[in-house]
Amino acid sequence: MSFVRVKDNVYLLRVPHGGTTTGVILLDGEKKYLIDAAGTSEEVDTYILPALSELSLSLSDIECLLCTHTHGDHIGGFYRLRQLGVKRIAAYTRSVPKIKDPLTYNIEIRKAFPKNSPPPSSSLVGTTVDLALQDGDVLDGRIELVATPGHDDDTVCIYDRATETLICGDSVQHNGTLVQGCGAYMYLEDYRASMQKLMRLSAKTAVLGHPFLPHGDVICGEAAVRDFLSDALRLTEVYRDFVAAEYARGERDLCTIARNLVNFVGGVMPEHLFLPLYTVREHMKEIV
Ligand SMILES: [Zn+2]
Repeated sequence: MSFVRVKDNVYLLRVPHGGTTTGVILLDGEKKYLIDAAGTSEEVDTYILPALSELSLSLSDIECLLCTHTHGDHIGGFYRLRQLGVKRIAAYTRSVPKIKDPLTYNIEIRKAFPKNSPPPSSSLVGTTVDLALQDGDVLDGRIELVATPGHDDDTVCIYDRATETLICGDSVQHNGTLVQGCGAYMYLEDYRASMQKLMRLSAKTAVLGHPFLPHGDVICGEAAVRDFLSDALRLTEVYRDFVAAEYARGERDLCTIARNLVNFVGGVMPEHLFLPLYTVREHMKEIV
């Protein structure tokens, strides 16, 4: 498993994780940055370190480790990278307490739909953050944190000014990943505002945390990135209309609507329905 070159100074490592892949992004240059760290310590040892060494890099070459949000599939490797001596970890202010105690947060987000959530990721171990960043902060004149809540309240994009690349993590969902069923957002109004905000950046490339359906995990070209963001916005309207139609025909059970939504978007029915349920709950708030 190797880092794939997306463009000059931007590399993506697709780490196998839970039936899909989770992206680890290397921003190369005079200073080097890692964004996201896969799901477990084992994934760090098995995939991230060997892939770095293929590029003749080691952890000591990395200036700073950042994350797009604090879900386990993105920060599960943080503890291991800290243990191995990564120089510095920077994160969005809202993510700092969750990185310190990811398991508590992992349990917390399962409480909304306990019967439909997977068991907590008990392997998650917390670590400290060296530098807390606010929305709009820029590291080394290059790495800009763009708060893009919606999927969760601490989801961010990292905008690499040097390469005009937007590292999206899970901030832009479209129809979700192969194992998720449909696009998932816990905060719909924030999600829509975040898509508008991202469009104003005029990024030339976008790299996503997973292959999201139907666009995949790498989008190249300014027009393509703009279309991809407006498509994410359009899909929230498609979802809204679908949920409204379900409600209008008398359907009230969130699980049934969530299952119907997954079928409607052509998604694979997920083993646990909690992410589609969050999405449906948000659209129901607009209706009721
Ligand atoms: Zn993810």
